[in-house]
Amino acid sequence: MTEAARRRAFERLSQEIRSCTLCPLCRGRTQAVVYRGSPQPRVVFVGEAPGSEEDRQGIPFVGRSGKILDAAIAALGEPLGEFGVLNLLKCRPPSNRFDPAAARTCRPYLDRQLALLRPRVLVPLGARALAALDPKAPRVLRAAGVARRAVTGAIFPLVHPAAALRSRALRERWERDVRALARWLASPGFEML
Ligand code: URA
Repeated sequence: MTEAARRRAFERLSQEIRSCTLCPLCRGRTQAVVYRGSPQPRVVFVGEAPGSEEDRQGIPFVGRSGKILDAAIAALGEPLGEFGVLNLLKCRPPSNRFDPAAARTCRPYLDRQLALLRPRVLVPLGARALAALDPKAPRVLRAAGVARRAVTGAIFPLVHPAAALRSRALRERWERDVRALARWLASPGFEML
C-alpha cells in the first residue's frame, strides 16, 4: 500500500468510527473521539475512553489527564519522535464508567487503526489498556516502567496519567516511569526488543 493510500484508508476508517452506531454508547456521545497525532507515529499512547472534554472537542486526552500526558510528551522530547494518541473506547461512557461490552464491540477499530498506523511501540496507559494490549502482562503497577514484548509487538506500559492526580506517590511513579521510557526510546535496547 502506498503512503497516500494508507492515509486515505485511515481517513475512511476515522469517518466510519465517527458515524458508528454499533453499541449503545453512540446515543450518549457528542461525537466519537478517534485519534490525534502523526499519520506515521513511531509511538502510540493508548488510553481507556474519552472523558467529557474529549467528548466535547472530539480529540483524545485534552482534559486534565491530557495535560499530564502532554507534559510527559514534552519531557520525552527528541527520543519520542513522531507519536499518536488514541483510546480503547471511541465514545464517552456514561459517568465515565468503563464499559467492557462496548470495549469488545469497539476493539476491531483499535486493531484496524494500529494496522494502518504501524507504530514501533505502544504505550498502554493504565490497567485496562495494558490488559487489552497484553492480556498476559502482570498488573499495571508491576508492569509499568519496563519494556515488554506483547503479541502486538513492543509495549512500554505506564500507569494512567489520571493516577498521577490521585497521590504524590503515583505522581512520582508516573514521572519515574516516563524518564525510564525516555531512556529506553533513546537506547539500542529499543531496536532489539
Ligand atoms: N482518559 C483516557 O483514558 N482517555 C482520554 O482520552 C481522556 C482521559
